[in-house]
Amino acid sequence: MLMTCAHCGREFSATNLNRKYCCNSCNVLASYARNGRPAERAEARKRFAADAKKLGAARLAEAKKQIATEAKKLATVRKKAITTKDLLLT
Ligand SMILES: [Zn+2]
Repeated sequence: MLMTCAHCGREFSATNLNRKYCCNSCNVLASYARNGRPAERAEARKRFAADAKKLGAARLAEAKKQIATEAKKLATVRKKAITTKDLLLT
């Protein structure tokens, strides 16, 4: 059966009607066209990982700041409590 390659448009004879491409390189190139080249995909993955890491670091810094603020509040409350107790005892 004569078919037309979905990538290069060349006619080819196929015994399997499920075939879309004339050769393996057209199959691979069509896949790159759909999904990007492996190097580009790796680059995109790396960028995403870096962004995720940055976001994680920002969240961690925010959490540390909150904890520090809470600790400071707690220290102030404790100090006040001690002063009040001292006043009551004297
Ligand atoms: Zn082809």
